[in-house]
Amino acid sequence: MISENPRVRFAPSPTGYLHVGGLRTALYNYLFAKKNNGAFILRIEDTDRTRLVEGAVENLITTLKWAGLDYDEGPGKDGGFGPYVQSERLDIYKKYTDELVRQKKAYYCFCTSDRLKQLRDEQQKTSVQSKYDKHCLHINETEISEKLKNNEPYVIRLNVQPDEMIRIDDIIRGEVIFNSNVVDDQILLKSDGYPTYHLANVVDDHLMKITHVIRGEEWLSSTPKHILLYKYFGWEIPKFAHLPLLLNPDKSKLSKRQGDVAVEDYRAKGYLKEALVNFVALLGWSAGDDREFYYLDELCESFSLERVNKAGAVFNIEKLQSMNFAHLQKKSDEEFLKLLKEELAVSSFNNHSLNDEKLLLIIHSMKERINFVKEIILNGSYFLTRPQSYDLEAIKKHWTHESAQLLQKFAKTIHDIENPLKEDYENVLHKVAEEAGVKNAAIIHPLRLAVSGVSGGPGLFDILFILGKEETIDRINIAKELVKV
Ligand code: GLU
Repeated sequence: MISENPRVRFAPSPTGYLHVGGLRTALYNYLFAKKNNGAFILRIEDTDRTRLVEGAVENLITTLKWAGLDYDEGPGKDGGFGPYVQSERLDIYKKYTDELVRQKKAYYCFCTSDRLKQLRDEQQKTSVQSKYDKHCLHINETEISEKLKNNEPYVIRLNVQPDEMIRIDDIIRGEVIFNSNVVDDQILLKSDGYPTYHLANVVDDHLMKITHVIRGEEWLSSTPKHILLYKYFGWEIPKFAHLPLLLNPDKSKLSKRQGDVAVEDYRAKGYLKEALVNFVALLGWSAGDDREFYYLDELCESFSLERVNKAGAVFNIEKLQSMNFAHLQKKSDEEFLKLLKEELAVSSFNNHSLNDEKLLLIIHSMKERINFVKEIILNGSYFLTRPQSYDLEAIKKHWTHESAQLLQKFAKTIHDIENPLKEDYENVLHKVAEEAGVKNAAIIHPLRLAVSGVSGGPGLFDILFILGKEETIDRINIAKELVKV
């Protein structure tokens, strides 16, 4: 049973960009919240001061927003549980560690890094699991006060009790059992006064009344520590759901080396947010049928944690591409036009003079041939400017000694038609071919080359109609002079 109005959170560390795995975690949390009338919370876990990157939080928020994953509570949106940035909650963590120390469930540790290294080295030699040996647990109160007075650097460690069974009833993975003997006396408060991830995470999940912790599988090994913390604090333990790893096609862990991992990179490449969200949703989840095409609101309807797989999910870029194609084809004229205009604005054709009607004709002619909106500009640049060059291969293949003359005839005949339509270009071409006793192809190929500079693309008569009569004739005249066999 899912508690009424569950509260879930996405708790990224701001390391500079949003990883696609992070997007999936955020998405599953979001979907779970929406499906179950819950709250989706964004919490920034920035307690590792050595990894701070400027602008990372803003970037994260912008990227989540772009993807359509608006949070109900988080930075700038207080729902009564803030602040939602951990570095603004230091006094809270201090208070709770003090409480644990008082109850002897945590203790001061003054060990130097040299001692810790020596301990690790010795344990390694004897193949014992590397663990802190509770050396400082036995320092008495007076000694502690003395050391604190002398400003000796210290950390606070969790006093893990031996032989405790730690049971995780994971919604995705089922029951996972750990023995507390394998859990180290985890540092809770670091010598810089900042909490570690473990402490801050548990304290905040408790105080923010998080009911379900939905996060990547890489955090499963930290969960025993968290459960002990809940127990030692005497707090209710939330439900856990650890999401399967994301894998490269060779089944290794998804890494930068084999492709992009930042959501921003996919965005910059021109992937639609709808496609990326749809694709990421299927990395580990399916509704149990063959359906693959979803919009975000449909995902909200269909999603359930019970249908998330345990097995790692392969990140298949071809699938993402085909998803982008599928979503692109479903775009309305209005949406498509908006996207094309955005791309044009940041292209070298930003001062083009084509009106919406023309742009829509271009879109219709090219839509089914592209995976990305920007390909309209890349592959169809001839709609925006005269050919700057002519494809050599195509010249060799299609331009003959009679091409110039045939094109001249075509230009002349079309010139006499007022406002020719697509069919008029086609009829004229057939007529000129027939009169000259050549196949249509003898005109089609050179004509395409003359007006576009390349050999492929949308239907020739679409191109001619979009360019218009004057421009078509001008381009034929220019090509006649420039293209030589
Ligand atoms: N700050 C952790 C991260 O960067 C959060 C893990 C969790 O959700 O508990 O992913």
